[in-house]
Amino acid sequence: MIEKRQFYINGAWVNPLAAKDHKVINPSTEEPCAVISLGGQADTDAAVAAAKAAFPAWMATPAAERIAFAEKILEAYKARAEDMAQAISLEMGAPIDMAREQQVGAGSWHIANFIAAARDFAFDEPLGDHAPNDRIIHEAVGVVGMITPWNWPMNQVTLKVIAGLVAGCTMILKPSEESPLNAVIFAEIVDAAGLPKGVFNLVNGDGVGVGSQLTAHPDVDMISFTGSSRAGRIISKSAADTLKRVSLELGGKGANLIFADADDKAVKRGVIRCMNNTGQSCNAPTRMLVQREIYDQAVEIAAETANAIPVGPANEAGRHIGPVVNEVQFNKIQDLIQQGIDEGARLVAGGTGRPDGLNRGFYVKPTVFADVTNEMTIAREEIFGPVLSIIPFDTEEDGIRIANDTPYGLTNYVQTGDPARANRLARALRSGMVEMNGQSRGAGSPFGGMKQSGHGREGGKWGIEDFLEVKSVSGWT
Ligand code: NAD
Repeated sequence: MIEKRQFYINGAWVNPLAAKDHKVINPSTEEPCAVISLGGQADTDAAVAAAKAAFPAWMATPAAERIAFAEKILEAYKARAEDMAQAISLEMGAPIDMAREQQVGAGSWHIANFIAAARDFAFDEPLGDHAPNDRIIHEAVGVVGMITPWNWPMNQVTLKVIAGLVAGCTMILKPSEESPLNAVIFAEIVDAAGLPKGVFNLVNGDGVGVGSQLTAHPDVDMISFTGSSRAGRIISKSAADTLKRVSLELGGKGANLIFADADDKAVKRGVIRCMNNTGQSCNAPTRMLVQREIYDQAVEIAAETANAIPVGPANEAGRHIGPVVNEVQFNKIQDLIQQGIDEGARLVAGGTGRPDGLNRGFYVKPTVFADVTNEMTIAREEIFGPVLSIIPFDTEEDGIRIANDTPYGLTNYVQTGDPARANRLARALRSGMVEMNGQSRGAGSPFGGMKQSGHGREGGKWGIEDFLEVKSVSGWT
């Protein structure tokens, strides 16, 4: 059993002050695989005090030096890539090849991109003709509490930590208690890069403990949060007492509009994308909206595709999907599949229960429902498992109306052979991101949502701006 009880505070690995033990469960086997500590108020206070003390000097460090630290982190990150992939695979169930390529790969992609974006970033700029004697200084917000989920752990940690570092913020990272091991390795990587003490701190904990302590803490200037809309609401309310800045990356219920003139791989691509990471992605295209002319054929292809997706343990090589993260999620997904059946959706692949031969572990059958209406629970709630809902539509207007009829607004997808229509939809869909015809986002592109998917943007120069104040100085000479 792996034991990682210490926290990284003020440049050193320290024993917890007020912690209790927490077992991390391997979702492939349902057996405990590690013990960590969940911090308490004294641990949170110590980390915040370290970050606060480190802030003035770090903020004043020239951007080029901060970027040089990010370069060292990238080097150390690449050297520990295999350790992180193993940890992610063990604790949250990502199949090992996928963990290497996508989970850990996303982290190095983001670090490299922030280095490039920060090199181009004007941290200090004249206002020009509009106000010739004024200057803008983009100055770090201060001490940031960074709270991350388990589903793409290194993706989310690097999106926050590296952007915050190059912006000049100091920080306390509280990763998800479901996937803490990879964050501990990340803290070792940061330690190896030799950052000034107190700039980066890691305290493990849960939401009601360290998470809410950071959110309420008077010396924390900002919370950067990725997780559920449920926790996002609680965090917003709690942060209001100290009027701290809050950046929220929350849930989604993305629509994938497939028009009759879409390419012939569109349906298959949509199913695979929905099921990737065992359906545990905020931006998964979970509602497939199919134009009536090709509806029956699309349902058939979707069912065939889902039935052909292998499911298996995370430590096995190959292109399969693993278990979902924990028992709570497993039971919630089972209930939602049952609800889909009870509300009258037509089950065409998968269903309740574990896949054949997998009697232990949180494995879910890749599941497809046809004849779903947008009012059904499976079309409204974020399921966070390998479950796809197919909804028919007639006209473009009809498709747009159904796609936008959701409280969420993270990513929508459009598949059509008509470029003019694709561009019309890109404007009409109310979401922070629109991906067309299988084209994925570039690393420097901003990631974030509208409506109840949150606010704030991560990635590229927008991700750096999230951690900056805009200071105007008049009378600059
Ligand atoms: P979660 O909200 O339960 O937990 C996320 C993090 O918040 C964890 O570290 C948890 O300990 C902490 N937390 C929970 N309650 C808290 C509270 N009251 N105060 C402070 N911190 C609290 O979410 P999860 O189950 O870990 O992750 C899945 C969710 O994350 C899904 O809804 C998914 O859509 C969302 N997500 C969003 C994005 C995005 O960029 N929009 C990316 C990935 C995941």
